[in-house]
Order: sequence, then structure tokens, then C-alpha cells
Amino acid sequence: MRYFRCELHTHTTMSDGKMTPEELVARAAECGYAAIALTDHNTVAGVERAVKEGERLGVTVLRGIEWTTFWGHFTVIGGNSDVLWRDITPQNVSEKIARAQSLGDIVAIAHPRRMGYPLCSGCHCDYDIEKLTGADNYEIWSHYYPNEGVAARQQLEQWHSLLNRGIRMTAVYGYDWHNRDDVPSSYAYTYVGADSAKAEDIIRGLRKGATYVTVGVEVNCKAVCCGKEYQIGSVIPSGECEIEISCRPVDDYRSDKAKELTRAEIRTENGVRSVPIRFGEKIMTKATFARYCTVGIYGERKGEEQLLAVTSAFYSGGER
Ligand SMILES: [Zn+2]
Ligand SMILES: [Zn+2]
Repeated sequence: MRYFRCELHTHTTMSDGKMTPEELVARAAECGYAAIALTDHNTVAGVERAVKEGERLGVTVLRGIEWTTFWGHFTVIGGNSDVLWRDITPQNVSEKIARAQSLGDIVAIAHPRRMGYPLCSGCHCDYDIEKLTGADNYEIWSHYYPNEGVAARQQLEQWHSLLNRGIRMTAVYGYDWHNRDDVPSSYAYTYVGADSAKAEDIIRGLRKGATYVTVGVEVNCKAVCCGKEYQIGSVIPSGECEIEISCRPVDDYRSDKAKELTRAEIRTENGVRSVPIRFGEKIMTKATFARYCTVGIYGERKGEEQLLAVTSAFYSGGER
């Protein structure tokens, strides 16, 4: 298994994007993505063209759609869903999510706390989060300044509070790619752990919760328990393990690069603990948890200490 660079939230001229499906896929190839999901607003009109171009250029294109409703947006990946966005209401949203999942799709809560620019109907998630707890993925980071600003902080807090309550949502970034950005001012990647970059393997990796999001730092993180290794997203039988972490800069990351790392933050339902880490150094640190454990990587970027990468959780208890 290895981690593949993915972008799970994109648009084309079939909705309000500026690139045709072919242009988007060509750009994704240039940007080094192994896989992207095409998630146009309430339409799959561009999907087959994008899949075809992806086959030609060696980029996996996951079939998707963005349910774009007045109360919030969801990216739905897999291409199996028959749910119509206009039928979704605050009252039935959890049933619609469950319906899409039962057909084999993966549902993410998109940009839950982003206001949209200048003001975008439904960008900000106004659904009751209590009704969304069955969603698979949560966009903890979004758009151009993924790890900075109020929305990022609020989304991270909300995701932590879900994890604290035992709700298992996988962390993803959503570029919400609309434009042909030559040099993005700042953007992140979602890396997905999978056996290959084939669509079914990437979807399997997402379903397992094997992801991390990052602004230019490649993270190698696993849990070791009783001599056995567990990938991100796994359930650790005893909830007691050593977390192994090492990081290196992403070579072709085009935006501001982190100068050096400062610390790894181990977060569980019991609180947070920081351990020093530098680029190229492998650390092992103990973690004990009854619900979850995630790792945040901090370092110097743009002249301040920033959160540079976040892993989805390791879990304890039950099954995935
Ligand atoms: Zn949206
Ligand atoms: Zn979008």
C-alpha cells in the first residue's frame, strides 16, 4: 500500500467551472494527481468525457457529483447514486446520505464552514450536524488557504468534536477546483492510501479512512501494536500503540514550502500532546485511546508556525 495524491472536489464547464472536462484532467496530470473526482454541481454531464481523457493521460477519474442544496453541499463519489439533489431537505438529509452509501457511493460534507465568495447559496453547511453523522468524509480543509483562517479552524474543531463523540469521519481536503490556476497561491492535497491508483482501490482506501491532508508535507504515519502495523483509519484492538511518524517535503509542491517542522501533535479524546519532529527524522511515540487518535504536523511556513498536515484517525473499539 502507498499514498496517492488525489483531489476529490472539482468542477468543469458542465457546471460553473472554467475548464472543460478534458482541460481539467490535463491540468490534473500536470499537477501530479494520481486521481481526481469530478464533482460538478448537480450534474454528471462531464463525467464520461473526463473518465475517457483520464484513461488517455493516466489520471484516474472518479465519477462524482456535488449535491448543491440551499442548506449545504456534499460531494458524492462513486457514480452509483440515484439521489436527486432537489429532493434533499433538512428533514431527510440523513436518509439521502444513507441511500447513496447503500448504492456504493462515498459522501463528504463539503466546505462546512466556508462562507463562499462573495456570498454563495448553501456553501456554508446549515444542516444540523447531528443529522449528518453518517457521512463518510469531512472536508476539514477547503479551497485556496486550506490551513489558514476562521473556516479552517472551525472545521477542525467540529471534526474533533465529532471524533470525540465516537463519530468516525475521514478527513479530506476539497480544492473545489473551478479555475485554471497557473500557480495556486496556496493549496493542499489529500493523500489516499491504496494498493493502486485504480478507481476501485482509491475508493476502498477512502472507505477505510486511510487519508491525510497536507500543504506540502509528505507524511508516513502508522500505528504499531503487538508487532503488527496498522494504517491510518484502522481500528487498533487494544487502543494502545506506538505511533510511527516521519515526514519529508513534497518535491513538486508549488506554493510556499515549509522551512522546517516543529512538532507532531498526537490528539486523542484525552487531550493533545506534542512531540518534536524534523524533516527526515523518524519518531515513535506512545498513544492510548478509547476512541480515536489523530496526528497533526506543525512547522514553519510563511513566517509562522502552521498546521501543515493532518491524518485521519486511528480508532479503538468496534469495527470500521
Ligand atoms: Zn460547494
Ligand atoms: Zn464545489
